[in-house]
Amino acid sequence: MQDYNKTKKQLINELFDLRQNVSELSISELNHKIVEADLKKERNFSSAFFDIVGALVMVLDSKGKIIQFNRTCQTITGYSIEEVRDKYFWDFFTVPEEVDKVKTAFKELQTGRYPNEYENYWRIKDGSLRLISWSNTEILKSDGTIEYVISSGIDITGRKETEEALKKKIQELARSNTELEQFAYVASHDLQEPLRMVTSFVQLLARRYKGHLDDDADEFIAYAVDGANRMKELINDLLTYSRVSSKGKEFKETNCASVINHVLNNLRLLIKEDDVIITCDELPTVIADSSQLVQIFQNLINNAIKFRSSKQTQIHIGAQDGGKERLFYVKDNGIGIEPEYFERIFSIFQRLHDKDNYPGTGIGLAICKKIVERHGGHIWLESEPGNGSTFYFTIPTGGNG
Ligand code: ADP
Repeated sequence: MQDYNKTKKQLINELFDLRQNVSELSISELNHKIVEADLKKERNFSSAFFDIVGALVMVLDSKGKIIQFNRTCQTITGYSIEEVRDKYFWDFFTVPEEVDKVKTAFKELQTGRYPNEYENYWRIKDGSLRLISWSNTEILKSDGTIEYVISSGIDITGRKETEEALKKKIQELARSNTELEQFAYVASHDLQEPLRMVTSFVQLLARRYKGHLDDDADEFIAYAVDGANRMKELINDLLTYSRVSSKGKEFKETNCASVINHVLNNLRLLIKEDDVIITCDELPTVIADSSQLVQIFQNLINNAIKFRSSKQTQIHIGAQDGGKERLFYVKDNGIGIEPEYFERIFSIFQRLHDKDNYPGTGIGLAICKKIVERHGGHIWLESEPGNGSTFYFTIPTGGNG
């Protein structure tokens, strides 16, 4: 029954409550719609993102069935999502000999963890194999068991092929390098004996028959002696060169100051004869083959004296701490070198002058380069014709052999 006794005030209050309910209802509806729209936007965003990424992205359920399979997966494998959805991934992609292993691994998944990262071969629709590098993440249920596995993969087939080809090339190069070194060693070693015989007999000829035959004969014998001596030098140098790696000694803590003392002692006559001024920084200790360090410094100092200018020869031996490596240098005030020859002079038997003015075979710097590289360092120079040269080389602080 209607209550007609309500006061005007009561009626107004009831009307106010009713209006409030109506507006509350519409606000919650509105909120719901906004949330729904947001969710849809987010879903569209994720699905666009899922499809445009260059990586293969696949979602599996805990049984190994494919739930999602992005566009890159479809492009690379040749399968559409319709062909693979709700099917076990091993029925398509796992190589036949691994199917049983993968199935078992998946069965045991709930007791263990899905591997985070691995590489494997994937069989694609045309029957060929692609090598994929996978990163995986698990989506867990509230009880801690796995609900989904999201796998993201990169096709590294091309990269791997390039790496393998490069590795093969490096191995081939190392092998041919060793063969070449062995060849140089055997050839120079075995040539020494017949050469010794030739040298001693032409020398004997020169001693015994000089002046007894005609002038031409004397001249020819002199050429033969000269040629035999030169060949002996070249073969000896080649042998020294090939011994850098084959007969190199173990790297040990080496005091460079004693190395320099040793070198200066070896060259003392030359230094005295040419009145050479030599200054030297305080030198560090390095991990190296000490006799090979002697060879480097001796070659560089010897060249600094040999390629002197008309000024009094001044040589400075310097060292600097370069963190991971030690930098050494030998600076002279000699004739200098044109920049166009900076590379060439480090090659075997390359010389810029004739042997009459500057004796030598052109192997000293090639030996220095080989020794420095055996130690993991590098060698180069700065020079200006007429203004001297500075030869730099580095030796890694921790040793490299
Ligand atoms: P070699 O001293 O037997 O000629 P190297 O291999 O030691 O052989 O040097 C190669 C060439 O580099 C030399 O013939 C010379 O032309 C040039 N060279 C080397 N050291 C110097 C130097 N300190 N000053 C000028 N030229 C140099």
